[in-house]
Amino acid sequence: MSHLSVAKFGGTSVANHCAMKSCAHIVINDPNTRVVVLSASAGVTNLLVTLANGCEAAERAKLINEVRQIQENILKELQDDSLVRNQIEAILTNIESLAETAKIENSAALTDELISQGEMMSSLIFVEVLRELNISATWVDVREIIATNSHFSQAIPNDEKTQENSDKFLKPLIERGELVITQGFIGRDPNGQTTTLGRGGSDYSAALLAEVLHAQDVLIWTDVAGIYTTDPRIVPNAKRIDTMSFSEAAEMATFGAKVLHPSTLLPAVRSNIPVYVGSSKAPENGGSWVTLDPQPRPLFRAIALRRDQVLITLSNLNMRHTKGFLATVFTILAKHKMSVDIVTTSEVSIALTLDKTNIDTSAVDVLSPTLLNELSELCTVKIDTDLSLVTLIGNNLHTSAGVAKQIFNTLENYNIRTINYGASTNNVCMLVQSQQADEVVSQLHKALFE
Ligand code: ASP
Ligand code: MG
Repeated sequence: MSHLSVAKFGGTSVANHCAMKSCAHIVINDPNTRVVVLSASAGVTNLLVTLANGCEAAERAKLINEVRQIQENILKELQDDSLVRNQIEAILTNIESLAETAKIENSAALTDELISQGEMMSSLIFVEVLRELNISATWVDVREIIATNSHFSQAIPNDEKTQENSDKFLKPLIERGELVITQGFIGRDPNGQTTTLGRGGSDYSAALLAEVLHAQDVLIWTDVAGIYTTDPRIVPNAKRIDTMSFSEAAEMATFGAKVLHPSTLLPAVRSNIPVYVGSSKAPENGGSWVTLDPQPRPLFRAIALRRDQVLITLSNLNMRHTKGFLATVFTILAKHKMSVDIVTTSEVSIALTLDKTNIDTSAVDVLSPTLLNELSELCTVKIDTDLSLVTLIGNNLHTSAGVAKQIFNTLENYNIRTINYGASTNNVCMLVQSQQADEVVSQLHKALFE
């Protein structure tokens, strides 16, 4: 088989008719793209999630109307919407009845069935958008291919069964030269019930399909033209990174950059399938390739910023020469389900920040009074807020001479509250005052990247 690419278009890329047409042109212009995985149109999954939580009739009608409006805005731009309109109406009716049931008796299975409908609609409409551009495409219900367990909302794919399904149903279509349009995010459990792979799961679906089809690459089309050396909103001079490794991308995502997280692309990472990130609105602007081991690997790769950090300093004079103090502190934190992020220690104190990834509340709110009480029984607790974590990401940082000098020279006018250097070959983390964070990022970027 010649070069095969699996392309995925995210929610904003299929948000309206104009955006969908850009996607269609990308597909038409790339003969290698023969499998297209779609997210729901932007906003639809969120609305469906609210409906799945169970709403009163009036609220339900309002939300369903919003879903209908998003799809209607696309349908009305089609030259002949008669065929697909019936399909969308049928899905909307199904959404109505599922949402009504959700109000009476909610279940995880029902939720997944309901929130999968967004991808059903976007994929059906996209086939029609292509058809109007004289491209015939085959719509595939991805649940026939992606087999999962029954862990609704976070289903785990069954790789063997998925491979089997793909060989049986998907591969022959591709071999016949058909262009396949399908859904991201969803799968089916052994009982035939719809499952979902977790929010944002369409990237995962695309990587899974690429893996079972032995595709050469996964193309993630989104609303940014690749991955940048830092957030271009902070530093307009930020440069696009043409090629980077999965591990560098993982570091960036972990430390706050809004880039795809390789864990959402697990199959691509484990099967060494290169991943491209580009903007569906401006494909001509190019994008970034994320691969296993791109060369060369520069010393400095990117700067990430994570705001709203809280630093906890724990001091106790008795800590000197005692054993197990850190263990006690970490046990208390673990008991409160707090994951420690960065740590620095001295003779009589420990300073640490908490990892509040996936926690929406402000940094201070994650510290419950009981947690603080327990820590206070052990030592003096001091809390610093209004801090941001600036992370320099690169390669062999800990074995290269002069890295610290470059950083400190550049930042001589700023107070660096803590610095973590040496634990990882890939990063140097600095905690700085939040009001200075953007400046610190800009200065570092200027010195190391411009
Ligand atoms: N539509 C789903 C979501 O919003 C999946 C995705 O977009 O990747 O989470
Ligand atoms: Mg999305």
